[in-house]
Amino acid sequence: MKKQVVLYKKLSPMLMSRLQAHADVTLIDEPKSDGLARLRAALPEAQGLLGASIKLDAALLDLAPKLEAVSSVSVGIDNYDLDYLDQRGILLSNTPDVLTETTADTGFALILASARRVVELANLVRAGQWKRNIGPLHFGSDVHGKTLGIIGMGRIGEALAQRGHFGFSMPVIYHSHSPKPAVEARFNAGYRSLDALLQEADFICLTLPLTAETEGLIGAREFALMRPESIFINISRGKVVDEAALITALQQAQIRAAGLDVFEREPLNHDSPLLHLNNVVATPHIGSATHETREAMARCAVDNLISALAGERPANLVNPKAWAVR
Ligand code: NAP
Repeated sequence: MKKQVVLYKKLSPMLMSRLQAHADVTLIDEPKSDGLARLRAALPEAQGLLGASIKLDAALLDLAPKLEAVSSVSVGIDNYDLDYLDQRGILLSNTPDVLTETTADTGFALILASARRVVELANLVRAGQWKRNIGPLHFGSDVHGKTLGIIGMGRIGEALAQRGHFGFSMPVIYHSHSPKPAVEARFNAGYRSLDALLQEADFICLTLPLTAETEGLIGAREFALMRPESIFINISRGKVVDEAALITALQQAQIRAAGLDVFEREPLNHDSPLLHLNNVVATPHIGSATHETREAMARCAVDNLISALAGERPANLVNPKAWAVR
């Protein structure tokens, strides 16, 4: 008999057929509005779940007694309670690697846009305010040759380092749990303590996961260590940063600018002070949002779920403890 799968993210027709060949699929579109009620209603029969961007906490998953596997269409796993999943032997899988390059592209887009004031100056042109040659008031700062500081030297951090080192001749420094000799050799990169990186880097880029350890990692103390010409880039998760402290740092010119793809609360409230600061480039969590990459992520998530429901270990299993107790 086919397994019961609840989808809370739409798939392309090709991937939908692929999944339907293995499972009976119920699609809950837009679960954030009335869809959440429909998701709750579908959970009692669900053996597999596939989607992203919803916090699947214990209260929600208690409604799914038959659940065997959750396949997240994301690399970040901050929406899941790993201890709870482990206890119940529910397999969690994610979609690493396929989104690495695209997310690093987004990081670099934010570096360039904030340093060269692309959005602010494009808006000036659009508003008909380009009346004479642009002068120092509107000059940006160089990217090439500046020091790139990466906090979280994992897959995305490394792809960012590659762009900075080979494409823009940037000295690379980084902070991670531990030094990475292979990365250092490849990009001539230097390991730093967090504080030393914050003091030294021209571009400070967050590429680490949101965990209990990293929540609020960058706050008032950390912004105070940065230099007035520093540019802060966040493509990880909003809650790694104390957003109020970031706003203060920008308002008080403790740092020059920020390029932000992620926020404490998403979607970002339209009255956020961040949207009234010319030196902020804000994008709507588009790290992996290209046609090609989102399709590759969905394919990876479908394959993970098909394996898990067939009793096989999924290629991107996040919680091996659950595999052991299931
Ligand atoms: P990854 O390969 O696991 O890399 C994360 C790195 O962060 C690891 O190398 C780890 O260092 C480091 N790290 C973790 N906790 C740390 C801490 N407390 N202090 C210092 N370093 C720490 O993950 P990834 O594939 O690069 O993805 C990283 C994150 O990017 C994801 O978790 C997700 O939240 C975010 N992301 C965002 C978007 C977007 O749309 N904006 C898209 C994709 C991913 P060690 O190796 O030394 O342990």
